[in-house]
Amino acid sequence: MAYSGVLKTLIRSSYLGSTTRNFSLVSSQISNHTAKWMQDSSKKSPMELINEVPPIKVEGRIVACEGDNNPALGHPIEFICLDLKEPAVCKYCGLRYVQEHHH
Ligand SMILES: [Zn+2]
Repeated sequence: MAYSGVLKTLIRSSYLGSTTRNFSLVSSQISNHTAKWMQDSSKKSPMELINEVPPIKVEGRIVACEGDNNPALGHPIEFICLDLKEPAVCKYCGLRYVQEHHH
């Protein structure tokens, strides 16, 4: 129980310190960042945003895309053939895949 005592001391000292001003400074920086992000997203379409994600390198000719590592968040498995030289795009989630060639 010595640990919880230390924790309480830390909380109390942070209340006593002049952290209030620092905290408001941080929150204003966050809102500035959000404003910039909102500005950027209004200029770019979702397709442009996904084009900024680098293609995923895959060993082999076929990749099975589920959209997300968690099947609950993803989409039905899409098997994508990587025979083309250009990156192959998943029709469900827009992720791009390229075949990694070994030299
Ligand atoms: Zn996908």
